Amino acid sequence: MTDVLLKVENLKKHFPIKKGIFAREVGQVKAVDGVSFDVLEGETLGIVGESGCGKSTTGRMLMRLIEPTEGDVTFNGKNLTALSAEEMRQARRDIQMVFQDPYASLNPRHTVAQILEEPLIVHNIGTKAERRDKVMRLLKTVGLSEYHANRYPHQFSGGQRQRIGIARALMTNPKLIIADEPVSALDVSIQAQVLNLMQQLQQELKLTYIFIAHDLGVVRHISDRVGVMYLGKMVELATSESLYEEPLHPYTKALLAAVPVPDPDFVKETTMLQGDIPSPSNPPSGCTFHTRCPFAQAACKEKVPVLQQIKPGHAVACHLYDDTVTMI
Ligand code: SF4
Repeated sequence: MTDVLLKVENLKKHFPIKKGIFAREVGQVKAVDGVSFDVLEGETLGIVGESGCGKSTTGRMLMRLIEPTEGDVTFNGKNLTALSAEEMRQARRDIQMVFQDPYASLNPRHTVAQILEEPLIVHNIGTKAERRDKVMRLLKTVGLSEYHANRYPHQFSGGQRQRIGIARALMTNPKLIIADEPVSALDVSIQAQVLNLMQQLQQELKLTYIFIAHDLGVVRHISDRVGVMYLGKMVELATSESLYEEPLHPYTKALLAAVPVPDPDFVKETTMLQGDIPSPSNPPSGCTFHTRCPFAQAACKEKVPVLQQIKPGHAVACHLYDDTVTMI
């Protein structure tokens, strides 16, 4: 049995809404509202949802780049939420992040060699010569060349910049990489190259990935399991096979209906989404998806559905699959 590398329990982030000269709190934006999941060693967990669903906030809370309002994050047996700032800095050697926009996340005034060396300096790893050696090795690992070391970020294409972002994340030999929309800003042909590189690195370096994306199509081939988020909650969590073969939640079905299929004979179930995503500062009652769900019944407005396992490796939060809720 594979070990659990990361355990997330009831994670919440509520941002206060303040008004007036006294900055009185008048409400809260529930960006993440009680999310729980495990990440197994060596797997890729995809987290998917529309913008504003809380997936990126969740990713950042795992590294405590955003402090959680509530909940626990246990990594390798250590409760990260209980660590001091210095202990957390140490823990970040093992958890690294790859960001959506490699250009914005790379210092434009630093050479690639300086950018890659920085995490080693921050964590006080190696001598100058050892660090230089590692920079050169990692450049090759991600498909770049040694002569790229003295160039600046603006001298690279988007795909190459993302390779630099990945190399930087790998410098400290992390166990877990949280990739937040790592290919969303890239052309489709380049997306495939970066995804292939990430898969190859995962096998070679035995990495565990959390791969955040707004599109179920992108995470399909890279993920072992996929979690679907809607308005700060996880509404479905399943193995990739089960989720794509037989999606259960109406929201997942709608997201899948929006993914283009290359086979012209394939007839899709077309559950299209109605309306816009509601504001997380004033989420709908009961099931927060009820304002857009074609199957919504009276019970959906009143009762909050709980994420529960329906079959092995497949959990969903929807009253349609809950025998204890009467749907008429
Ligand atoms: Fe739709 Fe009701 Fe299921 Fe929510 S609980 S997804 S509103 S059927």
